[in-house]
Amino acid sequence: MKRVWSGSTLHDTAHLQNLLEQAGIGSFIKHRELASAMGDLPFLECSPELWVLRDEQSVRATAVIGEALRPDTGAPAARWQCAECREDNEAQFAVCWNCGHRDPATPE
Ligand SMILES: [Zn+2]
Repeated sequence: MKRVWSGSTLHDTAHLQNLLEQAGIGSFIKHRELASAMGDLPFLECSPELWVLRDEQSVRATAVIGEALRPDTGAPAARWQCAECREDNEAQFAVCWNCGHRDPATPE
Protein backbone atom coordinates (compact mmCIF):
# COMPACT_ATOMS: atom_id res chain seq x y z
CA MET A 1 0.00 0.00 0.00
CA LYS A 2 1.20 3.46 -0.75
CA ARG A 3 0.15 6.96 0.23
CA VAL A 4 -0.66 9.12 -2.77
CA TRP A 5 -2.29 12.13 -1.17
CA SER A 6 -2.61 13.93 2.10
CA GLY A 7 -5.47 16.34 2.25
CA SER A 8 -6.49 19.09 4.58
CA THR A 9 -10.11 18.00 4.72
CA LEU A 10 -11.94 14.71 4.53
CA HIS A 11 -14.21 16.21 1.88
CA ASP A 12 -11.32 16.81 -0.54
CA THR A 13 -9.88 13.40 0.14
CA ALA A 14 -13.20 11.68 -0.48
CA HIS A 15 -13.53 13.55 -3.78
CA LEU A 16 -10.18 12.21 -4.95
CA GLN A 17 -10.93 8.71 -3.75
CA ASN A 18 -14.04 8.80 -5.86
CA LEU A 19 -12.03 9.78 -8.94
CA LEU A 20 -9.54 6.98 -8.31
CA GLU A 21 -12.40 4.56 -8.08
CA GLN A 22 -13.68 5.76 -11.45
CA ALA A 23 -10.20 5.12 -12.85
CA GLY A 24 -10.34 1.58 -11.49
CA ILE A 25 -7.82 2.18 -8.72
CA GLY A 26 -8.61 0.69 -5.32
CA SER A 27 -7.85 3.02 -2.43
CA PHE A 28 -8.76 3.78 1.13
CA ILE A 29 -8.70 6.79 3.41
CA LYS A 30 -6.51 6.69 6.47
CA HIS A 31 -7.35 8.88 9.46
CA ARG A 32 -10.96 9.14 8.32
CA GLU A 33 -12.25 9.00 11.90
CA LEU A 34 -9.49 11.15 13.31
CA ALA A 35 -10.23 13.87 10.78
CA SER A 36 -13.72 14.26 12.16
CA ALA A 37 -12.33 14.48 15.69
CA MET A 38 -10.06 17.33 14.65
CA GLY A 39 -9.70 20.00 17.27
CA ASP A 40 -8.38 17.74 19.99
CA LEU A 41 -5.50 16.40 17.95
CA PRO A 42 -2.43 17.98 16.37
CA PHE A 43 -3.27 18.87 12.79
CA LEU A 44 -0.63 16.79 11.05
CA GLU A 45 -1.56 13.64 12.87
CA CYS A 46 -5.13 13.73 11.76
CA SER A 47 -5.13 14.97 8.19
CA PRO A 48 -6.89 12.40 6.06
CA GLU A 49 -4.61 10.44 3.75
CA LEU A 50 -5.40 8.58 0.58
CA TRP A 51 -3.64 5.25 0.08
CA VAL A 52 -3.72 2.95 -2.92
CA LEU A 53 -4.07 -0.74 -2.21
CA ARG A 54 -1.61 -1.79 -4.90
CA ASP A 55 1.76 -0.05 -5.08
CA GLU A 56 1.98 -0.44 -8.85
CA GLN A 57 -1.08 1.77 -9.23
CA SER A 58 0.39 4.66 -7.27
CA VAL A 59 1.95 6.36 -10.30
CA ARG A 60 -1.34 6.32 -12.16
CA ALA A 61 -3.18 7.45 -9.02
CA THR A 62 -0.83 10.42 -8.63
CA ALA A 63 -1.49 11.33 -12.26
CA VAL A 64 -5.26 11.16 -11.75
CA ILE A 65 -4.97 13.37 -8.67
CA GLY A 66 -2.67 15.85 -10.44
CA GLU A 67 -5.14 16.04 -13.30
CA ALA A 68 -8.06 16.56 -10.95
CA LEU A 69 -6.61 19.48 -9.06
CA ARG A 70 -6.94 22.86 -10.65
CA PRO A 71 -3.58 24.47 -11.32
CA ASP A 72 -2.92 27.36 -8.97
CA THR A 73 -3.32 30.38 -11.20
CA GLY A 74 -3.33 32.86 -8.36
CA ALA A 75 -6.82 33.95 -9.35
CA PRO A 76 -9.61 33.22 -6.92
CA ALA A 77 -11.60 30.24 -8.16
CA ALA A 78 -15.26 29.66 -7.50
CA ARG A 79 -17.34 26.57 -6.92
CA TRP A 80 -18.66 25.26 -10.18
CA GLN A 81 -21.50 23.11 -11.37
CA CYS A 82 -20.80 20.15 -13.60
CA ALA A 83 -22.26 20.61 -17.08
CA GLU A 84 -22.70 16.87 -17.34
CA CYS A 85 -24.41 15.77 -14.14
CA ARG A 86 -25.19 19.10 -12.42
CA GLU A 87 -23.25 18.27 -9.27
CA ASP A 88 -21.53 21.06 -7.37
CA ASN A 89 -17.76 20.91 -7.18
CA GLU A 90 -15.26 22.69 -4.94
CA ALA A 91 -13.14 25.37 -6.58
CA GLN A 92 -9.86 23.51 -6.19
CA PHE A 93 -11.01 20.62 -8.36
CA ALA A 94 -10.89 20.66 -12.14
CA VAL A 95 -12.73 17.37 -12.51
CA CYS A 96 -16.24 16.53 -11.30
CA TRP A 97 -16.21 14.20 -8.28
CA ASN A 98 -19.35 12.50 -9.45
CA CYS A 99 -18.83 11.73 -13.12
CA GLY A 100 -15.22 12.69 -13.92
CA HIS A 101 -16.27 15.40 -16.38
CA ARG A 102 -13.66 18.15 -16.75
CA ASP A 103 -14.62 21.73 -16.00
CA PRO A 104 -14.36 23.44 -19.42
CA ALA A 105 -13.27 26.68 -17.72
CA THR A 106 -10.14 25.05 -16.31
CA PRO A 107 -6.87 26.22 -17.83
CA GLU A 108 -4.77 23.32 -19.09
ZN1 LIG B 1 -20.39 15.57 -13.15
